[in-house]
Amino acid sequence: MNKTVDVALIGGGIMSATLGTLLKKLQPDWDIQIFERLGDLAQESSNPWNNAGTGHSALCELNYTPQNSDGSIEISSAVKVNEQFQVSRQFWSHLVSEGALPEPSSFINPTPHMSFVWGETNVEYLRKRFEALKDHPLFAGMEYSEDPAVIHGWAPLMMPGRLKAEAVAATYIPSGTDVDFGALSHFMVDTLVESGAQLNTGIRVANLKRHGDGSWKLKLRHDIGETPVEPVTARFVFVGAGGYALNLLQKSGIKEIRGFGGFPVSGEFLRTDNPEVVAAHSAKVYGKAAVGSPPMSVPHLDLRVVEGQGSLMFGPYAGFSPKFLKTGSVLDLFASIRWHNLLPMVAAGLSNLSLVKYLIGQLMASPETKFAELKNFVPNAKPEDWYRITAGQRVQVMKKHPKKIGVLQFGTEVVSSADGSIAGLLGASPGASTAVPIMLGLVEKCFPDRMDDWRPKIKEMIPSFGQQLSDSPKLAKETLKRTAKTLKIHP
Ligand SMILES: Cc1cc2nc3c(=O)[nH]c(=O)nc-3n(C[C@H](O)[C@H](O)[C@H](O)COP(=O)(O)OP(=O)(O)OC[C@H]3O[C@@H](n4cnc5c(N)ncnc54)[C@H](O)[C@@H]3O)c2cc1C
Repeated sequence: MNKTVDVALIGGGIMSATLGTLLKKLQPDWDIQIFERLGDLAQESSNPWNNAGTGHSALCELNYTPQNSDGSIEISSAVKVNEQFQVSRQFWSHLVSEGALPEPSSFINPTPHMSFVWGETNVEYLRKRFEALKDHPLFAGMEYSEDPAVIHGWAPLMMPGRLKAEAVAATYIPSGTDVDFGALSHFMVDTLVESGAQLNTGIRVANLKRHGDGSWKLKLRHDIGETPVEPVTARFVFVGAGGYALNLLQKSGIKEIRGFGGFPVSGEFLRTDNPEVVAAHSAKVYGKAAVGSPPMSVPHLDLRVVEGQGSLMFGPYAGFSPKFLKTGSVLDLFASIRWHNLLPMVAAGLSNLSLVKYLIGQLMASPETKFAELKNFVPNAKPEDWYRITAGQRVQVMKKHPKKIGVLQFGTEVVSSADGSIAGLLGASPGASTAVPIMLGLVEKCFPDRMDDWRPKIKEMIPSFGQQLSDSPKLAKETLKRTAKTLKIHP
């Protein structure tokens, strides 16, 4: 192991894989080392069975298009998420075209995205949502129907067994995707290692300390047995440790992490591998979250393609565990409490009692109640076809707020030191789909003096960099068409 490196990436998930790949392209002569505490990459949130694999582009997720008090639909968040996903698509497409990523179907597959609702009020909402999005260049090709026969054609599992009198509506857009972020992390790190980066699995970063010259000393341990490993010094550190990023940033002592806390939410999915059931559903279908429930609780029925095999997944069912990683410790939540985040955490908790109530309700729900939620989507579902799997842990960001003392936020947040020598990523959604724009933002924040040199390479990899596709329908159309062709997905 080299004792001094330019870049240390803590964690072997999609975020470190993406940042490492970007930095290697921008500055090929930099030494990069990756430290992953588990025996393999992408075993936490980035593992395909720990997340839903949705290429989040707001084509079907209704939480990105809330209804205003005047009844109109607010589409700005949907447009933003879609713009972000197009940045990821461009980067992946660049990597495929230069051979740095393999055959696209090994990590991304065309999977139509649908929204599906029932009940008059929800039908009216979906109709308005469709009207608000249908002419936008990033949502081109979206169809809408209230006709059960048409919806049956899009999602054959979902209509049989449903009451004929029930009002239903759906949108359908073929340009959706299912992404295996675990495979993608592996492929990116493989290429990184081939180009000289060093991967250290089974090695945990136990602590970090700033040297006088601004570089960072990483204290390392074998994850099993806790035996010490020779420390490493890094000029730049990325804390891509998922749920453990908060803890490591706290250990670094940077003042920018003060006031941040984390609220862990666990989850489960129902999964079926029955080939007959799987063959009858080839979309990702998002419903509407129950009133008062958090955005990550939106129920959805997904076709998943992992290692070439199809499965269906339904969920998520939320729950509570104090662990910050699936393989974490029950002491994680308690250990994250500091004097500077205690008040913001309490205030965020008190102003989100509906979330607490929702989680308690989910924890108390019987298997029959949970199965009934699946039956809202697949009325004829049979319990013997479906089994439970545990999803990854989400650690939602809690942070101090000038007026409300503390708030809970559902997005992600990059926290970096003022000198840009260390940065980490907190939070969950929209997550892996937006790894590329999030990591590009981090690069701009931590390496401002390198940007003039790096911008041409970034533009080569992501031609729309610095522009909004929404501002130019022509550019949007060209970009979608080009990346779809390379990634073998629908434009
Ligand atoms: C239930 C659920 C559903 C989701 N669905 C979607 C979806 O449909 N689409 C989407 O785009 N995103 C989704 N996400 C979000 C997405 O999975 C995450 O945003 C993304 O995987 C985070 O990647 P990461 O690299 O930051 O973290 P992780 O993949 O969790 O990786 C962090 C790594 O750091 C390692 N680590 C931790 N501490 C240390 C240490 N001290 N030393 C060394 N290594 C360490 C861990 O072992 C782990 O491998 C979902 C998440 C969940 C939980």
